[in-house]
Amino acid sequence: MTQSDDRDTAAERDPTRPAAVLIVGAGFAGLGTAIRLRQAGITDIVILERGREVGGTWRDNTYPGAACDVPSLLYSFSFAQNSDWSHTYSGSAEILDYIHGLVDRFQLGSQIQFDTEVSSLVWNAEEGTWTAHTRCGHTVTARAAVMAAGPLSNASLPDMPGRDTYTGTTIHSARWDHTFDPTGQRIGVIGTGASGVQIIPQLVDQAAQVKVFQRTPGWVIPRLDRQRSEASKTLFRAAPSLQNLARQAWFWAHEVFALGVVWTSLATTVLERLAGAYRRRQVHDSWLRRQLTPDYRAGCKRILVSSDYYPALQRDNCKLITWPIATLSPRGIRTADGIEHELDAIVFATGFDVCKTSAPFPVHGVDGASLDDAWAEGAHAYRSVTTAGFPNLFLTFGPNSGPGHNSALVYMESQIAHITEAIRVIVEDDLRALEVRRDREQDHNRWLARRLARTTWNSGCHSWYLTADGRNTTMYPGFATQFAKHTAPVDLADYQIQQRSVSSLGVQPDLGGRL
Ligand code: NAP
Repeated sequence: MTQSDDRDTAAERDPTRPAAVLIVGAGFAGLGTAIRLRQAGITDIVILERGREVGGTWRDNTYPGAACDVPSLLYSFSFAQNSDWSHTYSGSAEILDYIHGLVDRFQLGSQIQFDTEVSSLVWNAEEGTWTAHTRCGHTVTARAAVMAAGPLSNASLPDMPGRDTYTGTTIHSARWDHTFDPTGQRIGVIGTGASGVQIIPQLVDQAAQVKVFQRTPGWVIPRLDRQRSEASKTLFRAAPSLQNLARQAWFWAHEVFALGVVWTSLATTVLERLAGAYRRRQVHDSWLRRQLTPDYRAGCKRILVSSDYYPALQRDNCKLITWPIATLSPRGIRTADGIEHELDAIVFATGFDVCKTSAPFPVHGVDGASLDDAWAEGAHAYRSVTTAGFPNLFLTFGPNSGPGHNSALVYMESQIAHITEAIRVIVEDDLRALEVRRDREQDHNRWLARRLARTTWNSGCHSWYLTADGRNTTMYPGFATQFAKHTAPVDLADYQIQQRSVSSLGVQPDLGGRL
């Protein structure tokens, strides 16, 4: 670390003057943004994190079997590759270790304020600053703000009738209670999405009985995981270009996957046939197979990647229940066929409350306008990163930035590239405000809407990608390569720029170590 890097740590900085950047969230996106900003010479960064440690969704999702269904070589930053992944697809603990490693390797620790939950963000047009108000009563002011709270940070506990009457143990997948011992228990699992299919095989191994309450079956493809040899780790350590080549191979394999997942095409039919063959080979009972057969096109909801889910469902102590849940009762779950399933514990693998028509906390931009009002009919942004009326504010995993077929981190890196470049311009050119032009944002969203209409996600299934009235505010309708080409560069012609004099704020532009 250089001396100039040292000088702007949160502990040392003068809290009465605005920071260059404030970042909300210390998960992959927040930390990745901080790393890239520092590498661009912008070191005066404050990261506000509501939890007690870094890691975001990988800190919170510690349920048994939690792992990533994207290969680790691709589910890691291209600028911080790791040769030592133990498996092709790593578990959540190893991913969390990698994130902790980023903090150490890029010396971000002193820039993070933990236990600091942002309650609102307010723009001051005169000074060209954002002020974050926190639940503990502090404020932090900065010239640019990055919202990196993550789309999957708030667990969704469905408001089912009778939920409060149930007297057994309840656990949400994203808030696992590690004091809970499943051994010998009768457990109900509600939800068969990406989290559910990872938890169920683990519970079946230990519990006396597992009842799986499925509302909609998913398309399942096998997970070709294997332990990595010491030789391959050594090879990648010695030859990083080879590791990069392997990463590229995974990347392009996933890009091809888009042809079947993003659009309904011949490739979708091929994918469905392969998943159907896999289901026939794995599930022996024809009635069970029928219950597990989706009635929507593959890709409309997230494809499930698991090699142990179907075998687990067929174990003697596991039963798939497809009758809708009527109510929770004091002793368990009553389904629409009138049967009461007595359960010692209920696991809610029911996903997340994803902000599709609101911000995660109140955000007030130009003239006090609220982001919630701007997004009332569905979140929108320019290239997923900026939105008109909210200058110097940047979003990670903002509207229409989600991948259906490739690593979220690849998409994240493109957003971070845009954000880093825009903030570099704000700081170096000492701008009061950099605000995307409304007409450019609208053009972008009209383009998105035309393309989204033709995607598999809008082909008729119900998913968390869509708002209640069916608008897709979540996914990017294209390849990751297109997203990168679209998102990473900053075209200043798309932005309105307000200059200001250095003296108006009494600070010198922060150029980190680059002068
Ligand atoms: P999810 O995909 O939203 O699945 C939630 C499950 O709960 C679905 O099966 C849903 O049924 C069911 N459900 C929700 N409310 C219900 C209700 N009231 N009654 C009955 N069933 C109900 O959530 P998730 O599995 O936690 O995954 C969320 C996202 O996290 C994924 O899409 C993915 O992006 C990410 N994730 C990634 C990985 C990974 O390996 N990379 C692993 C886990 C999660 P319906 O399908 O009928 O709505």
